[in-house]
Amino acid sequence: MQNIDLHNHSRVSDGLLAPAALVALAKTNAVTALALTDHDDLAGLEEARQAAQDVGIGFVPGVEVSVTWGTQTIHVVGLGIDENNPVLRQGLAELRQGRQLRAEQIAVELARAGIGGALEGARRFAHNPAILARPHFARYLVERGVARDVATVFRRFLVKGKPGYVRHIWTSLEEAISWIRAASGIPVLAHPGRYSLSRQELDRLLDEFVAAGGRGIEVVTGNHTREQVEYFAAQATKRGLLASRGSDYHGPGESRFEPGRMPPLPEQCVPVWTDLNFPFFS
Ligand code: AMP
Ligand code: MN
Ligand code: MN
Ligand code: MN
Repeated sequence: MQNIDLHNHSRVSDGLLAPAALVALAKTNAVTALALTDHDDLAGLEEARQAAQDVGIGFVPGVEVSVTWGTQTIHVVGLGIDENNPVLRQGLAELRQGRQLRAEQIAVELARAGIGGALEGARRFAHNPAILARPHFARYLVERGVARDVATVFRRFLVKGKPGYVRHIWTSLEEAISWIRAASGIPVLAHPGRYSLSRQELDRLLDEFVAAGGRGIEVVTGNHTREQVEYFAAQATKRGLLASRGSDYHGPGESRFEPGRMPPLPEQCVPVWTDLNFPFFS
């Protein structure tokens, strides 16, 4: 039986494990094929691919692209991408530059709230200096004793209306999808149930995602309730979208599901891996 997990993070972005350690954990959990989908960076793919080959599981090169849609941040996962594609590489390089500027602004905002040294603090938690993400700030705030755990930090800081929040413009939905397609990847809307959108707005997002060349949505993810799994399975069927399954694993103690430990896709779904070319799986 296949146990495919197409959404995972390593310490190349805001995950805690090295790419090879993530693959080893996936193997322990009987995952048969794994995608590494770090935020806005491809630097972990080579190590993960090698590790997957060594332990004999399939590997899908991926990325999770940060997008601004209206006032919302949306994530688009690219699966089966050619990591050498210059269009994708250039787009991600620009996102990483914006990320650096945002990190500096977050530190300024936290200092205004009485929490100093956050830029240096977050950097100590970031293995890859090119990706400073909010979880790195959150881990620093936990270390300082400002909150008990990362989830509590996110309730009290770093989000809209709370200290340390900074508005940021990433890239457009159209651009993100075009980069992924330029790199021969499948664009998949990540964790659609997580965005604070009305049903109407969500419909419009899905319309625009499909119009821009999006091909799949995550139906099973660490963020979805059972009702949301049903809802997005129906949406995928109705819209002719491929269905993806991913844990969105970030590391021990920070994620609802370990790699491969999520429920299966509902029967009605057409799995996105039917469209992935299986050189990745050899
Ligand atoms: P960034 O891309 O730097 O804005 O960071 C976004 C990341 O923060 C997401 O990919 C999650 O890993 C994490 N995150 C966002 N919201 C929460 C939350 N409410 N609780 C825990 N982690 C969160
Ligand atoms: Mn993340
Ligand atoms: Mn995400
Ligand atoms: Mn993710």
